[in-house]
Amino acid sequence: MQVALLERETFARHRPGETLHPAIEPLLGQLGIHSEFVCLRHLGHWVQWDGAARFVEFGGDGAGPWRGFQIERAVLDAQLLDRAGALGVQIIQPCASPTIIQAGNRVAGVTLGAERCLAACVVDASGGHGWLRRQLPIQWQAFSPRLIARYGYCQGEFEPGYDTPRLNAVKDGWQWIARVDTHLLHWTTLNFDSSSAPTGAPDTLKHLTPVGPIRGADVSWRLSDAPMGPGYIQVGDAAAILDPASSHGVLKALMSGMQAAQAIADCHVWPGGEHVVHQHFNTWLHNQFQADVDALRQFYRAHPWPPSWA
Ligand SMILES: Cc1cc2nc3c(=O)[nH]c(=O)nc-3n(C[C@H](O)[C@H](O)[C@H](O)COP(=O)(O)OP(=O)(O)OC[C@H]3O[C@@H](n4cnc5c(N)ncnc54)[C@H](O)[C@@H]3O)c2cc1C
Repeated sequence: MQVALLERETFARHRPGETLHPAIEPLLGQLGIHSEFVCLRHLGHWVQWDGAARFVEFGGDGAGPWRGFQIERAVLDAQLLDRAGALGVQIIQPCASPTIIQAGNRVAGVTLGAERCLAACVVDASGGHGWLRRQLPIQWQAFSPRLIARYGYCQGEFEPGYDTPRLNAVKDGWQWIARVDTHLLHWTTLNFDSSSAPTGAPDTLKHLTPVGPIRGADVSWRLSDAPMGPGYIQVGDAAAILDPASSHGVLKALMSGMQAAQAIADCHVWPGGEHVVHQHFNTWLHNQFQADVDALRQFYRAHPWPPSWA
């Protein structure tokens, strides 16, 4: 297949999501990236939730314990982009925001300024912004009230305990702290009630120097009602979002991207079965999402101040 990748921003650009689940390793291997980046690894998380703080290990197998990654997204995303380029993907970056071309009820490609790029399939990987959803009558199904995560970075001398990410329940929400680099910490806070006053860095980090602004992100739980349809697929956050306590948004983005590539190949060899492929992809995505929603609701029910909607 001939593939073009349209990226609006020049790299390196900021994205949150530096703590990667160990299950990402075999996927990166399949994509031809063999964790050659130097980064911090961890065996699990400290979780202080419905009792004393406990260490939750990832587990392991005959080859040893599974280890998560702490890596700056700019580094990971640059590697993914380089790999795509090496495989022959045409990378157009930075690009103006494209507009879809429709032919009957199909998405038939995109226009980029004066240029028309026709395509058998347009993949929307634009993140929570949902580029395609703004152009087609695709709806979000809501699975939570509005949730806003606030996050930031700070640097300085901190205790070695931060080598392992930690999740703490606080009144009506939670805090997450993870070390991204030798002297850099990431923090995220989420309040179950989005109308409450915005929070700053956790008190335990107040002695450190803030790096960059405090940012906010809409992490309300939601799922597209038609992630794959004639001529298009939505993947990653463009298809489904959970708040970061689910802890594997990047893994899900990679998995759905790879599943989408398979679905496109299936449609190519079996054009008459396209609707079956659409149904299969949509059911797969829905089931994955529902399992994550069930697990996260159960986790929130065990919170000392559980949200009523859980
Ligand atoms: C505070 C916070 C902390 C998080 N922590 C973690 C974590 O520790 N671990 C984890 O696994 N996940 C985490 N997540 C979730 C994770 O960030 C997302 O699930 C993940 O980034 C989704 O990847 P994506 O590729 O779908 O979208 P994105 O990472 O958002 O990438 C979308 C890309 O599309 C580009 N784009 C957007 N619009 C256009 C357009 N119109 N034209 C061209 N290009 C466009 C953007 O520039 C961007 O490069 C966190 C999320 C938040 C908000």
